[in-house]
This record gives sequence, structure tokens and C-alpha cells, in this order.
Amino acid sequence: MNGPRRVLLPSPRSFCAGVERAIDIVERLLERHGPPVYVRNQIVHNAQVVGDLESRGAVFVGELDEVPKDALVVFSAHGVAPAVEAEAALRGLDAVDATCPLVSKVHMEARRASGAGDTVVLIGHAGHEEVVGTMGVAPERTVLVEGVEDVERLDVPDPGRLTYLAQTTLAVAEVERIAAALRRRFPGIKAPKTDDVCYATTNRQNALAAVVEEADVVVVIGSVNSSNSNRLVELARNAGTEAHLIDGAGEIERAWIEAAGTVAVTAGASAPPALVDEVVEAIAAFGPIEVIERSVAEEHLEFLLPQRLRGPGQNVKSEKSS
Ligand code: SF4
Repeated sequence: MNGPRRVLLPSPRSFCAGVERAIDIVERLLERHGPPVYVRNQIVHNAQVVGDLESRGAVFVGELDEVPKDALVVFSAHGVAPAVEAEAALRGLDAVDATCPLVSKVHMEARRASGAGDTVVLIGHAGHEEVVGTMGVAPERTVLVEGVEDVERLDVPDPGRLTYLAQTTLAVAEVERIAAALRRRFPGIKAPKTDDVCYATTNRQNALAAVVEEADVVVVIGSVNSSNSNRLVELARNAGTEAHLIDGAGEIERAWIEAAGTVAVTAGASAPPALVDEVVEAIAAFGPIEVIERSVAEEHLEFLLPQRLRGPGQNVKSEKSS
């Protein structure tokens, strides 16, 4: 290799506004009320974030019956079905909702479409927490499609009354492919007013797509259950580039780096920015590097905290992301 190894850092990468807000909610509750603060499911899909909050007194549970009566419980960024909110109320729990507002927007669309008599066709991955929550908005009026093959098999009560929606963290190109198949089979199907795949997922995919062809290997920082991180790995592999999903610097393998003149490092929306610095440092241990930032968009979006957690002067509206 002539000269230093190039390390490309596509931007945006790492934390999004919804993840920052969800973590902030748990941190503020820990500060105000002290531990334990119960959290239903992982607050965001990242092992380091969850481990860190756990060490400070957050208790992650799978179901509400694991939460003592009257205790404080946080709903994760992925959102919950209305039935879960009702159960929390019934059990007398003090629930704080950390659902990302962009997931809430999809819930609202599902409520509106099903309320108007449409069947909601949700594009998403079965079993993912966000999908479970969104399907729970109108369970008897929602069907799931995971791929184009499902569109061919789809059986709906009235093909003239359909709206499609999507999980926020999917591959933009895949959603477009499935939506096109839906439109071919059901020409009158309604689309969401604005894209459901969120700005953060879209920006991270666009940023990686802009550098992937220059890279010999792509390292994506994210946990194995992080949907948007997995989509970044797929994007690189679909472009013919070797790609690996890692939780942190300790998982980097010598062979990946030594064979590469150019390494691209990105991080899913739930992975802390500090992990990127650690990974770059670990790559530098294999020889001299030149770090190159490549930005395709700037993000300035901030979401308001729930009313009860806002400090003075925090009632301003959020800025738009570019
Ligand atoms: Fe919200 Fe998108 Fe971040 Fe998910 S990835 S928390 S939908 S901003």
C-alpha cells in the first residue's frame, strides 16, 4: 500500500434526534426520581447504550407485568401498541412515552387510514418492535408485507380501500420497490403523505452510498437487532463491497483492515458517536491512516421532550433537518 490507509467517514452517521431524545428521557428520569426506572424493551437497539443506562439504574423489561405497581415505566423509541398503553394505565403505572415522534407519525397515519375504512398495508419486518407497535394501532385492519412476493399473495377485504405505510428504518430502495409492486396490483392504493422511512435512515443510507464504491471494506457500527444498521450493511454488500456489522472496536478483525487500502466507517442511528472514534483509533493500530469526512447532508433536527421533563425555555418548536 502506498501512503496511509484512507478511512472514509460518511456523514450523517450515528445518533439521530429520536434516539437522543429517548436516551435523554431515561437519563432525566434517573436524575429526578433516582433508580429504578423501568424501561419496556431496549430504549434503543444498542448494546452499549442499554448497558450504560443499566449501570445507572435503568431496568429493562420485556413485559409490563415485570414492573411493580405504581412504578415509573418508559416506552422505548420504537413505540407501543395502544393496548400496551391501556395495560400500563390499568396497572397504575406512571408511563413516560419515549416513542420517536416520527414513529408516532406513522401510528397517526395508521389511525387515520383505518378510521376512514381503509386496510393498512404495512411494509416492514415481522417481529420488529416498531412493527408490532404500529400493527397494534388497528390490528384487525392492518396487514404486513415484508417483500414483493408478499404483495402477490396479499388478500385484502376491499382492494379499492387501501393505504400503505412503512417501518421508519427500512432501505429506501426496498420500500420503493415494494410500493411500486403494491401500486401495480392495487392502482388506487394511497401512499403516506410524507415518506415513512425517516430522515435519519435516509441520510445514513445516502451518505454511505456516496462513498461505498471507493471503499474496499465497510465497517458499520450498530447492534445486531438495529434495523437501520443492518440496512447499511446490506446497502454496502448490494454494491459489491465487503461489509461487517460490529458493536464496537473490539470486534474489528485484522484481516478486514490489512487487506484494505480504503475503509469506510459508519454507524447506525442508535450507535453512540464515541464508538466511531474508538473504531478509527483501532484501525490506526494497523498502520498510518488519513481520515476523510464526506458529508451529504446536515442534520439539525431536535425533538421536544415530553412536557413533564422540559426545562424552562424548552417549549420552542424543533428545527427541520436538511
Ligand atoms: Fe426516529 Fe428515525 Fe431515529 Fe428511528 S431512526 S428514532 S424513526 S429519527
